[in-house]
Parts: sequence; C-alpha cells; structure tokens
Amino acid sequence: MCPRATDVVRELQDAGYAAYIVGGSVRDLILGKHPKDFDVATNATPEEVKSVFPRCRLIGRRFRLAHVRSGGVLIEVATFRGSHDSDENGDGQLRDGRIIRDNVWGTLEEDALRRDFTINALFLDPVGGDISDFTGGYEDLAQRRLRLVGDPETRYREDPVRLLRAARFVAKLGVEADEETAEPISRLAPLLADMPPARLFEEVCKLFLTGHAMRSFEALQRFGLSAALLPALQPSGESGKVVADPLLMQALKNTDDRVARDLPVTPAFLFAALLWRPEWERASHLMEKGESMHDALMLASDPVFARQSVRTSIPRRFSAVARQIWVMQARFNNTRGKRAKRILGDRTFRAAYDFLLLRASQDESLQPLAEFWTEAQEGHDFHNNRGPSDAGDKRRPRRRRRGKRGGRRS
Ligand code: ATP
Ligand code: MG
Repeated sequence: MCPRATDVVRELQDAGYAAYIVGGSVRDLILGKHPKDFDVATNATPEEVKSVFPRCRLIGRRFRLAHVRSGGVLIEVATFRGSHDSDENGDGQLRDGRIIRDNVWGTLEEDALRRDFTINALFLDPVGGDISDFTGGYEDLAQRRLRLVGDPETRYREDPVRLLRAARFVAKLGVEADEETAEPISRLAPLLADMPPARLFEEVCKLFLTGHAMRSFEALQRFGLSAALLPALQPSGESGKVVADPLLMQALKNTDDRVARDLPVTPAFLFAALLWRPEWERASHLMEKGESMHDALMLASDPVFARQSVRTSIPRRFSAVARQIWVMQARFNNTRGKRAKRILGDRTFRAAYDFLLLRASQDESLQPLAEFWTEAQEGHDFHNNRGPSDAGDKRRPRRRRRGKRGGRRS
C-alpha cells in the first residue's frame, strides 16, 4: 500500500475529518495490482484541506481538488460530492445550455453513489483497515463483475464516456460486464458524438497506450463502440463495429509489448497506425490519378485527420508526427545517395522505420525495402549505395536520379 496516501489520510483524520483512499486505487489494491496513483476522499472542504496541508495546491474551477505532495508522491484529495455533477472533467462546459452545478458536497454514501462502477466505489481506511462498500463493489470485484452503480441507461446518458470506461475496465481488469451494464452500450454508442473531442482523445490514449490495447480493441468491437469512436475507419456492416485492419491489430500488439517492456509509446505512432488504412486507401486513389506517393500521402492526410477529429481531437504535435511517419513511407523508396542518407538523420526516422517494419510484416513485397533500411542503419551497404534490387512500393516505378551517384562519396 502507498505509505504516502496513508500519511495523508492519517493527517486528515488527526485533524478531525473523515478520509479514505478511494476509486481505482482501492480496486487495484484488492486485485493485487499496483495502482498508478492514489486518490483520497474526505469530508473536509478544499479550504479545510488547505489548512491541514498549507503547502497543497487547490486546482480545478468547478470541481475543486487539493493536490497534496507527500514524499514526492502526488495525491489528489477530493471532497465528498453529491450526485449532481456527473462530468468528471470539471472544465466548466455547458451542457444542454446550462452550467452543471458547481461543487455540491455530499456524504460518504452520496460520494459512493455518484461514482461509475461498483468496483470503483470502494472506500478504504488505511489506518483502521476498514472498507466501506455501499454498492456491493467488493463482491463484484471478487466475482470479476463490472456493474454500473444505479440504473445503467441513466448513468450512461449522464456521462457517455462511461460507455468507453466500461470497455476499458473489461480490457484492463479482465472483468466481465453484467447483462444490464452491457446491454445498453451499443444502443447508446451514438451519444459519444456529444462528448468533447479532447476528452475522448484522452480516453483513446488510456484505451490503447496502457498495455491492453488489443483487449481494448476487442472490447470496443464487442460492445459496438468502435465505429462511433473511430469514424475515420470503415464500418464493418455489423452494428457499431469497424473493419479490423491486420496492420492495426499488429500495431496494437506491438504497443502492448512495448508497454510490457517499459518502452515509450506515443499517440503519434498510435494514430498513424489507427488511421493508416483510410490514409492509404485515399492515397492509392490519388496515385492512380498520377500523384506521386509522397504527394498523395500528404494530400490524403488532411481529410483523414478531419474525419477522425470530429470525434477525438488529435493535438497537432501528434498529428504532425503521424503525417511525417506516413510521408516518410514514400521517402523510404529513395534508397540511393544523399537523399537516402538524409532520411537516416530525420527526427522521425526511428518511428517511420518502425512503421515500415509494421507494413512489411503485413506485406511481403515490402520486406526487401525494410531490410535495406535495417542495414542502412548499421552502416552496411548504405555508402556503397546498394539498395535491394527490387525494393520499394510496387505502386510506382522508382525514378532514378541522374548524375549524382552516392557510391562515389564512400
Ligand atoms: P484508472 O486510473 O485505472 O484509469 P480509475 O478508476 O482510477 O482507473 P479515474 O479516471 O482515475 O479512474 O477516476 C478515479 C475514480 O473517479 C474512479 O474510480 C471512479 O470512482 C470515479 N470516476 C471517474 N470517472 C468517472 C465518471 N465518468 N463517472 C463517475 N465516476 C467516475
Ligand atoms: Mg485513477
């Protein structure tokens, strides 16, 4: 258990307040997983928390929270809330033209009832050792059962992001949604269209960049949420599903492997893989009309990003890199001379090269090209300017550059 979170709870209790470790951290502790962060709930108001921890920071405009640093760990301390605030973002958005009510303090029980799933509604007193359970979450956890607190349809409508959270917890925790929790999901999937795209971007990152991407995708498909979440992908005909592109599946698998090995993962590469199929289809069409592969990939990317961005924002710093990864696929066909050498120095080389390997894993004809770039990095053959004879995308004949021959420079 986190001794820091326990310290924070103890100090609040010593000051006369009720305080508990809550939410995902309790759930993960009971499941024997290591929680990635700790949240504390208390009946002290943010100002009162501030008086106990004078150096804490109060954050958030509508849902004010205290960030308490204890021994280098950041602990989020929130005041018990009542049921009127279902939007977890606290960013002051309007809903149906009305501002949702501000901080509505509640009791411990009310705070349990406004949480999403029963397994997320447990309160642990790390000092006394008790768990408070108003929703049957402990038993659900034991049975590996995902159940919404209260009436599922009402709770999904209150905050449709819970649809995605259901899929994520199924994928992440290996729990199974009970019938009433699962049933409305595909039916209510269109509600995702009303969600702020920035919030859905965050959810996509949590779904696909935290080590259970394959299972997240399966869960989204099974619940019929993928088409609503990924409008740029081709719907599969079955309700709410998309066509599962083998390259994307491989990318998700690789991402999970990287997370398991503690290697960095990035939304840029994720979106490059998620959107590759529509990107390539559009680009191919443009190439048939005579565009170069480079220009076609460039031209195709704007409408592809535009289609996806209506649902999930894609911050420019990521979409720009995703586009570079795509365009580099064309540049990789330059296996000769200076231009080839320059590619090796490109900032996105590594990611684009990984992407080439990904493509080659699905398309044998790309393997010589992938091998060329593998060797190029090791310095083999590169200076001798010996690309594999048939390297390249077969879509367009490679143009030979006249004059300069890299071989002379070696
Ligand atoms: P993880 O951190 O693994 O993503 P988590 O359960 O901790 O899972 P958070 O988003 O960190 O998820 O939220 C912390 C807690 O806040 C949840 O456990 C839940 O009790 C509550 N909560 C979060 N989002 C919602 C929501 N949309 N509706 C109701 N309660 C929510
Ligand atoms: Mg959490």
